Amino acid sequence: MSPVMKKRIVVLPGDGIGPEVTYWARTALEAIGKGFNHPFLFEQSLIGHAAIEATGSPLPEETLDNCKAADAILLGAVGHPKYDLDPSAKVRPEQGLLKLRKSLNLFANLRPIKIYDALASASSLKREILEGTDILFYRELTGGIYFGNRGTHPEGNHAYDTLSYTREEIIRIATMAFQAAQGRRGILHSVDKANVLDSSRLWRATVIEVSKQFPDVQLVHMFVDNAAMQLIRDPKQFDVVLTGNMFGDILTDEASQISGSLGMLPSASLSGRIGMYEPVHGSAPDIAGKNMANPMATMLSAAMMLRHSFEMEEESLLIEESIAGVLEEGLRTRDIANEKTPIENICTTDEIGTQILEKIESRMFQSVMI
Ligand code: NAD
Repeated sequence: MSPVMKKRIVVLPGDGIGPEVTYWARTALEAIGKGFNHPFLFEQSLIGHAAIEATGSPLPEETLDNCKAADAILLGAVGHPKYDLDPSAKVRPEQGLLKLRKSLNLFANLRPIKIYDALASASSLKREILEGTDILFYRELTGGIYFGNRGTHPEGNHAYDTLSYTREEIIRIATMAFQAAQGRRGILHSVDKANVLDSSRLWRATVIEVSKQFPDVQLVHMFVDNAAMQLIRDPKQFDVVLTGNMFGDILTDEASQISGSLGMLPSASLSGRIGMYEPVHGSAPDIAGKNMANPMATMLSAAMMLRHSFEMEEESLLIEESIAGVLEEGLRTRDIANEKTPIENICTTDEIGTQILEKIESRMFQSVMI
């Protein structure tokens, strides 16, 4: 077993289904902490709409201070329909998340896209196209158009957003992505729009420069429109995919359909000491409070926390394998069920969370017995 380690984990449940799904990820981490004798210390803070309602700010100072002092952060999701229907709202839940990522300098967003055998039929794509897919996205997270200058002219007929990248911003994310490709199949697709955008031409030139330190990795450049098409035509061709902020946001939502549902996709946002872990999905107001959300993306994000922040590979695998085990038994939340799923196998959030937890605990017990 790994040595005893004290780790401070800040949980930010956020809005909508955020509290429902983070509950199960935290419960899994608590069980692992107990079973492996890791004293994980949990603290909970407000973010997003919940924080605006309580304090007027989507990222209260107290939350930011707690996060800065953490070893790792587990986030649910932010967002509320109130703001989606009011584009003029000055204070918005997403501002809290963007500010947190920027303040902690979380520039590298890792999004693994894997196909679970048991779920190959939950996807809208054909099984033979999907089988064997294993992609790791490296999305730049603190630059690009989401952070550039923006504005709306006073008469309201003209608005603009600016897409800008510096060489340094590109070098640091590209270096991480090449390093990851070295430990995988050794292929890196860099996605840009260099036929049109100046920022993409800098992106491409810089990625080529970085690639010289990684002669064992095959570099492929792909325009973003082609990448969107290739992802569903032949996802197996991809190993590591390197993208800017907005292209990665869009392509990973598209790629979620390879895993069957947004409810299956975890992510890690990394830089230096602190890592933040969150599902790719949003606050899903359409199902919030109905005990219908799939908690697996958030539980898989907790597994990424164990791997990337705490170097606890065995513990991380335990969560991943327990989820795979529950899927193999045929249990499904609604988002990954299809017309062939027996009604008795369709679970609520709490039912599937309980099943996964039981698997984690029984596997831990078995490994202690061995
Ligand atoms: P969404 O990801 O919340 O939902 C899209 C669809 O997927 C919905 O039909 C939803 O029910 C379903 N879905 C998502 N997660 C699921 C899960 N775990 N289990 C089962 N089904 C799931 O995206 P949206 O509807 O475009 O946005 C809703 C709100 O979330 C908005 O306010 C948006 O701004 C916010 N948002 C936040 C984040 C974030 O916090 N990182 C990311 C995306 C969107």
